[in-house]
Amino acid sequence: MNRQIIIGKEGNQPFAICDPKVSRRHAFLNVDDNGNMQLVDNQSTNGTFIYSGSGFVRLYANQPYRVSADSMIQLGPDTRFHVRRLLSGHNGATRESGGGNTVSPPRQDPPKVKKIDVSGLRAVSDNYNTKKMELESKTGMINGLRSCTILVSMLAAGASGIISNKFNDSDNGQMISIALTVGIAALLIGVLLTVVNRYNRKLIQMRNDNEHDYAVRYCCPECGLSFRGKIYENILSERKCPRCKSEYYEKSDKD
Ligand SMILES: [Zn+2]
Repeated sequence: MNRQIIIGKEGNQPFAICDPKVSRRHAFLNVDDNGNMQLVDNQSTNGTFIYSGSGFVRLYANQPYRVSADSMIQLGPDTRFHVRRLLSGHNGATRESGGGNTVSPPRQDPPKVKKIDVSGLRAVSDNYNTKKMELESKTGMINGLRSCTILVSMLAAGASGIISNKFNDSDNGQMISIALTVGIAALLIGVLLTVVNRYNRKLIQMRNDNEHDYAVRYCCPECGLSFRGKIYENILSERKCPRCKSEYYEKSDKD
């Protein structure tokens, strides 16, 4: 049976939160039977953050993020605690409406090291790098397009100016064709730059999303230690987490 801990000023976490910058039902912690935990921001006003190596990363609303007991989370700008604190008093105890103090003391982690399948990290890393390269090449293309926008526009306008010139041989006609050339060039530059800039903004957003995803997902599945910039094969070859000492393996090499 899955459990859900509601975190907030009106949550059911085992300690009170009085911070006015924390929402009433700020976030949820979902715990499944195997002890896997996911943190979900409940569209809170001031955001839910998890610590990822170099700093706190704001979670996207309504999206589940895997966390461990050692993960440090932050609600709004001021309230911070380890996920572990949410579990004390919840551990082993199911929520019952029928009163009685059935709350058991927090279970101590067994001293033996955990073995963790980290094959999921390979996909996270590959996906991040593929997307990053894709976005970089698109950005390069956009920059190229932007720098030749003016040239393209001038050429197009020049061509249209020459064409209109053929039909007007008088001085007056020449003035009109010059005005036409400048006008069309300005219009084309405007339109092209608008399109290019809009696409560029979209690219920046996609790049931010990619970095965000990588920051919150590319970490030790057990303790949340960030592996930012580390090659997956190196993580695997070290065989264990530098922080929590969990043993790593890849599902395929166990069979
Ligand atoms: Zn770890």
